[in-house]
This record gives sequence, structure tokens and C-alpha cells, in this order.
Amino acid sequence: MNPTASVNDRIQLIAAGKSDESTCSPSLAKGPWEFDKGTPGYGPGASMGDVIPTGSPVQGGLPEEYKTATNDELHARIRAAKETLGDKVVILGHFYQRDEIVQHADYLGDSFQLAVAAKGRPEAEAIVFCGVHFMAETADILSNDNQKVILPNLAAGCSMADMADIDSVTQCWEQLEELYGTEPDEQGRVPVIPVTYMNSSAALKGFCGEHGGIVCTSSNAATVLEWAFERGQRVLFFPDQHLGRNTAKAMGIPVEQMPLWWGRKPLGGNTAEELTDAKVILWNGFCSVHKRFTVEQIEKARAEYPGVRVIVHPESPMAVVDASDEYGSTDYIRKAVEAATEPTTFAIGTEINMVQRLAAQHPEHTIFCLDPVVCPCSTMYRIHPGYLAWVLERLVAGEVVNQITVDESVAEPARVALERMLAAKPAN
Ligand code: SF4
Repeated sequence: MNPTASVNDRIQLIAAGKSDESTCSPSLAKGPWEFDKGTPGYGPGASMGDVIPTGSPVQGGLPEEYKTATNDELHARIRAAKETLGDKVVILGHFYQRDEIVQHADYLGDSFQLAVAAKGRPEAEAIVFCGVHFMAETADILSNDNQKVILPNLAAGCSMADMADIDSVTQCWEQLEELYGTEPDEQGRVPVIPVTYMNSSAALKGFCGEHGGIVCTSSNAATVLEWAFERGQRVLFFPDQHLGRNTAKAMGIPVEQMPLWWGRKPLGGNTAEELTDAKVILWNGFCSVHKRFTVEQIEKARAEYPGVRVIVHPESPMAVVDASDEYGSTDYIRKAVEAATEPTTFAIGTEINMVQRLAAQHPEHTIFCLDPVVCPCSTMYRIHPGYLAWVLERLVAGEVVNQITVDESVAEPARVALERMLAAKPAN
């Protein structure tokens, strides 16, 4: 692996037969517009096996000129449009975005950091969010009324977020209410508190706001669970089972008291006794990218690099977190690498664009992704420079395309759940 080559360059070399690396799908070398229409799944890559729910936004056609332009031409057009727009636009780039996008971002961060950053730029009338759909929704919820949030490619969804939809969660909630009732115990704790990971639709954040619940990030999940257990006997955690399980286990909750809720089955496939005994009910969602990390990969890294420091994201399966040296959010991983004063070998279990960037930024360390296959988050990957050039040039022409708007009836309770999270003192 060339530590300075971008993930896209590596994928192009693999597709051209000029590399001995492998990718989870050679189709990633194509322009994402090849997958805008008529695909049953999210397209090639780590989340290709996950089905797009009906009703998800669909990207219309990208004008031909943006598909045929070279990368150099696109970068020049993006820079020119940005310069013309000046302070009226702010471009946000998620840690998992490809380098070809990140180089144009005013801010780089995780989804919540970026939504907060946008709020700090009130003069920006347009927020171009280079991330995925739920992130743009959160930015719209938290941004000022005069700010318009734009997602350059509407097909950039998140398969994990889509694993929990408002109808299924509402059905689950009705069954739990029927089983537990709604009366608090003698300590004033209600039977169950809903907690949603930031990686969820605005509708689910709103659901939590309306039902005494809260949002969490991968940085503050333990703080948020403590908040919830002060107010409830149990937690219903969605959509990511792994973040919920890893966090609750570290708090001392036995795995046996964390039943998995399968959306379509009565009582989520559990008995009434199992649910009564439960402390955390885990929604059966997962991240297709972080699910790829395995204990075998960690064992191989330890065998090949004695003394390697293994850090994984808590969206990884429990066995992987248990086998690692440390686990934490994207921001935790970034800070851990930056804080290492001695040359260190890091094996990292998170999205490859971020790992590759850390490797390029820190030549004093040896940094590699645990997964040897070049497999980015395929939906993040749909934000190609062609789409960024298109939305910016439309802004220059006075037209807002691909705006993400959360109805105020949803945004208001969602804000309540987000404010509870902030009051619960998130880490960082
Ligand atoms: S990395 Fe996983 S959780 Fe993040 S956007 Fe991609 S599919 Fe969703």
C-alpha cells in the first residue's frame, strides 16, 4: 500500500489491473452516477448488500458535463464557484469522505461536530454537507432559519440509519408499552427510555424527543446511557446494536440482559420474560463498513507487527472491540494518533478514507486499516467532485438544488432530544 495514495487512486489502480490489492467491488471505480437510478441496493462497496427502503431520496440525473470533466477541471470549477460565493457558502466534509472532496471542505469532522460548525457560520446561506443523508438532516435541524442545507448527491444515504424506520420503531414501542405499562417504579423511573444513535433519521430523533428519550454519538454513548438509567429502568437502543452492546457491556451490564429486537417478529423475537429482565433492548442494526472487522484481522496484525496498537470504532462487533487495545469514536482515533509522541504502529478499525488520511498525515507512524480489502463506505463515496461542482455552480446561478429540509413538526422534538444530549455533557 502507498501511504500517500488516496483511496480513490488505489481503487482506480485495482480496476486497471495495476495493483495487487483488492477491493470489495471494482464497480467503485466507476462514477457514482452509474448507480443513481434503478439500483435495488446502495451500489457497490461495503453496504452494497443492504436494500434501499422505498421512499428514500433518489438522485436525479447529473448533467453530462460533470460526468465527463476530468478531476482537474472539476477541482478548478469547485474552487472558482467557492470563491465567487465567498462567505455565503460553507462546505462540510465528514472524516469518511474521499480526499478529492475533503480538500475543498471548510470543516472536517464527525457528523455532530459538523452540524455544530455550520451553526457557527451564520453568514453562510448555504451549507453544503459532504456526508450522508441523516447528517444533512441534523444540520438542517440545528442550523439557523436562513440557512439551506444541501446534500450534493441525494443517493448518499446510510444503510445503518435505514435499518430502523419510524413505523417499525413505533410498532416496537407499542408492544413494549403493552408489556411494561407506562407507570414509573418507586424511584420514579419509567419502564423504558428510547435512545437513538446520531446515525438515524430525523423522524427517530423526533420520536425520542417526544417519548422522554435522547440522542447519542459514539463519543458520548456511555454518558447518555447513564442519563437514561437515571430516568428509566431499561433502554431501547437503535439503530446500531454494536454501539449499544459495546457501551452497555463496558458499563457492567451483562450481555444476557441485552436482547436483540428483530423488527418484524412479535416482541422482536423475544419472550416476555426476556424483555422484562432486559436492561438494554438492542435494535438489530449495524454498519456494513465496521461489520467487516474481525478478530482474525487483529490476530494477523499482532503476529505481523509485534507491539502494534489496535484501535477500533465501537460500531465494530463486540468480539472485535474485546480483542482490540482501545476503542473509540472517529475523533478519539484521530486524537490518539496525534497524541502518540513515539513512532508507533497503529492498526485501525474504521472507514478506510479516514485511516488512509491519518497514514498520509503522520509519516512518523505506521498506520494501516485492519481490513486488507479496499472497501470504503459506498454511500459516502457517492459524493464525487462532479456533484460538488454541480451544486456549487447552481448556487452561483442562484438556484438551490438537493436541499434537505426537515419539517418543523419533526425538527422540534428532534431538537429536544439533541438538547438533552448536550445537557448530559457529551465527551469532548
Ligand atoms: S460508515 Fe456505516 S454508519 Fe457511517 S455512513 Fe457509512 S454505512 Fe452509515
